[in-house]
Amino acid sequence: MTHEHRVLDPATEQLVATVPATTAAEVGTAVTRAAAAQRTWAALAPADRARLLRRFAVLVDEHTEQLARLEVTEAGHTLGNARWEAANVRDLLDYAAGGVERLTGRQIPVPGGIDLTFLEPLGVVGVIAPWNFPMPIAAWGAAPALAAGNAVLLKPAETTPLTALHLAGLALDAGLPEHLFQVLPGAGDVAGNALVEHSGVAKIVFTGSTRVGKQVMARCAERVKRVTLELGGKSPNIVFADADIEAAAASAPMSFLDNAGQDCCARSRILVQRSVYDRFLELLLPAVAAVVVGDPSDEKTQMGPLISRTQLERVRALVPEDADGIRGSAPTGPGFWFPPTVLTGVAPDAPVATQEVFGPVAVVLPFDDEADAVRLANATDYGLAGSVWTRDVGRALRVTRAVRAGNLSVNSHSAVRYWTPFGGYEQSGLGRELGPDALAAFTETKNVFIGTEA
Ligand code: NAD
Repeated sequence: MTHEHRVLDPATEQLVATVPATTAAEVGTAVTRAAAAQRTWAALAPADRARLLRRFAVLVDEHTEQLARLEVTEAGHTLGNARWEAANVRDLLDYAAGGVERLTGRQIPVPGGIDLTFLEPLGVVGVIAPWNFPMPIAAWGAAPALAAGNAVLLKPAETTPLTALHLAGLALDAGLPEHLFQVLPGAGDVAGNALVEHSGVAKIVFTGSTRVGKQVMARCAERVKRVTLELGGKSPNIVFADADIEAAAASAPMSFLDNAGQDCCARSRILVQRSVYDRFLELLLPAVAAVVVGDPSDEKTQMGPLISRTQLERVRALVPEDADGIRGSAPTGPGFWFPPTVLTGVAPDAPVATQEVFGPVAVVLPFDDEADAVRLANATDYGLAGSVWTRDVGRALRVTRAVRAGNLSVNSHSAVRYWTPFGGYEQSGLGRELGPDALAAFTETKNVFIGTEA
């Protein structure tokens, strides 16, 4: 077992920091402390909890630039993306703070008395985050869980612990009780697994690969532990002949190249109606080749490196060297670089067309009609997101309803919004995060009947 993680800058392979790896015993201590802090937190007046979360949001806002620079250094995100990510944490905290005083139960008519429901905090919540959006995804779980009166133990990915540690410091500075929000960097199968197996952790929010998500779910099942899973995706971008083809082609590159394709919602299967297939490719290929790949701290850069050598090898293994298509340019030398890549002439059931690549790679597949498009769109084990390009409103509604995925957009590639629900169908996940019901997902409903006849 290693007791330290080396954090590398993925653009240069330089060592950025070493971070102690939390042991299973240390997770146990953290759970005990968090449980005590949670009782203090839940006993505060709702307005006071909301005020502290807003103060936390203000501090995140004031530290946007530091947090963004850390994200660029440890995750290779472009500066523009990293600033957005820090601002997203601020917004998530503000939005969750607005829910504290609105987390109400119900009064249900019953004979012989009064019936009330209470939404009670679960206790200690474990949030296990991936490396691809370290800050936002940590806050998707942590902000509503805290707002609903819980303590949070956050296990960041091995490669990206630094922004999480910085956020924990800001929470303390804001006045949140000590140990209420703790960051436990470390190995997934040690610190992550200890959170999953600890009886004092009431719920796990896991975001990561479908493979590990299934293991986490199985271990939670043994304890009937609550679990939310946000897993992989292989999302379609469906372009009908009646669409604004120029607009569809112009927006397609960054819909799978943003964050170097390490995005669970990447529109990495571009399905194009056969009658406009050639025209669409004529527009798409030069647009992909023109994407600026390089130093992520340069404001003009549109795409940075992959997170690690392991990820680079995974992407290389899935992309056939001899496949037709185009490859853009990427730096050579140190760093985990892979060029923007569009593959044509790939069989619809080829691994690269059905498995999540999690790199800057898309396949373009032709389809004949609406039924064929829906069939192809649904021909993976995933169901996270998708886009439909058409000028026909009826078709837009029919197709978005027929595609089995949690997050669809029409004539756009909608980003994840903190105030709308997000989550996957099928092997893309279980449960929903964000949106108006985010806090309720971190509560138990208790029903109390008060007899009035005695
Ligand atoms: P991963 O599954 O390898 O790791 C995710 C997290 O789980 C890390 O913190 C890791 O340390 C931890 N972990 C690993 N093994 C564990 C174990 N046995 N027990 C408990 N925790 C363990 O995934 P990754 O490579 O970090 O992230 C990429 C994946 O995340 C992609 O598949 C992507 O689609 C998915 N993702 C999904 C969403 C979504 O919202 N659906 C968002 C972002 C990323």
